[in-house]
Amino acid sequence: MAVLSSAKRVLPWASCNGHALARVSGGLRGLLGTADGAAAAGGCSLLPCRWRSSLPQLDSVDRSDEDSSGGDIDWDNLGFGLTPTDYMYVMRCSQGDAGFSRGELSRYGNVELSPSSGVLNYGQGLFEGLKAYRRSSEMGGYTLFRPEENARRMQVGAERMCMPAPSVEQFVHAVKQTVLANRRWVPPQGKGALYIRPLLIGSGAILGLAPAPEYMFLIYAAPVGTYFKEGLAAINLLVEEEIHRAMPGGTGGVKTIANYAPVLKPQMDAKSKGFADVLYLDPVHKRYVEEASSCNLFVVKGGAVATPATAGTILPGITRKSIIELARDRGYQVEERLVSIDDLVSADEVFCTGTAVGVTPVSTVTYQGTRYEFRTGQDTLSRELYTDLTSIQMGLAEDKKGWTVAVD
Ligand SMILES: *Cc1c(COP(=O)(O)O)cnc(C)c1O
Repeated sequence: MAVLSSAKRVLPWASCNGHALARVSGGLRGLLGTADGAAAAGGCSLLPCRWRSSLPQLDSVDRSDEDSSGGDIDWDNLGFGLTPTDYMYVMRCSQGDAGFSRGELSRYGNVELSPSSGVLNYGQGLFEGLKAYRRSSEMGGYTLFRPEENARRMQVGAERMCMPAPSVEQFVHAVKQTVLANRRWVPPQGKGALYIRPLLIGSGAILGLAPAPEYMFLIYAAPVGTYFKEGLAAINLLVEEEIHRAMPGGTGGVKTIANYAPVLKPQMDAKSKGFADVLYLDPVHKRYVEEASSCNLFVVKGGAVATPATAGTILPGITRKSIIELARDRGYQVEERLVSIDDLVSADEVFCTGTAVGVTPVSTVTYQGTRYEFRTGQDTLSRELYTDLTSIQMGLAEDKKGWTVAVD
């Protein structure tokens, strides 16, 4: 696969924040940089690692149930809840390893962690999200949408969070294994997708503030339908003026788990008032819109489309990137720039994009107590782009861009 072989390989322990790391004796002190470094530098060789072996191990994958459909699932009312599936994929990397070693599937189940693991104490973790779609019964098999992009984004995030990351090849292979092992949970065509959730966490024990000495890459999956309870219908958003999602120099541009608990409060408050989600403003001027809690934003006015430029405070969505290209293919001028509140409220059309939400039209935005309305429904650009994108993802249209990856 040409697209994969050209991918940049990140050497996990090569550097972190400019500290060169020698994998020879004591070289990790540069990384750990604290008094605890000396103790932690021994990693698992010194620290007890009883919890390492506690993961449910898969002696032999039981494939007898794989071709039966997903039990008694109501495929028509999936939503975005967690339906546990059969298998998860686990791969580890310890201090001193050249990278992640070969991972394996195990039965889906709880993971045991040291109470002093880096992820539990300091939030050293990243997640990803992508979907596998069932192809038509004539074609058979499944498709993934741009999984190398998720792998690369995880590598960028890992660099920011001082973690080693799987190679693009390891990531995509692991995703495929997870899909195949859970194939009976991939919804029928048109009913949804198998949502795949890769995690990269600092699983090793550490006390002083420093990167963990061991990392776990884990993938689980769950069948999903639509993200918002509104389904494919348009949503109402509330502009949040007090709480900010990201700041310049922070981690808003990477998918770290640390970004999400802080936005639960404004999100829950907005939901209690009947809004589907919150729109965040830039924390400096409180004048430029950034994105929603888990999706990017587009505004349309006349023949021009604009989306906030990603400069560290906005998550660079793969759906966003794809929609920019699809809108340009349709002859629209698409600008990545600052999008002010004025640009937003005077737009003809507004929509959100993300793996989970797809392309979701926004019918109203409420800012400082005023509700602004936008065009939705037939003859909107968001509807056209939704069709363009989902046709490629579900294998209904020819994939001229090489965005889909087959899993057979
Ligand atoms: C994941 C995410 C998105 C969407 O990214 P996709 O790659 O399109 O799924 C947008 N914003 C935030 C904050 C996210 O976490």
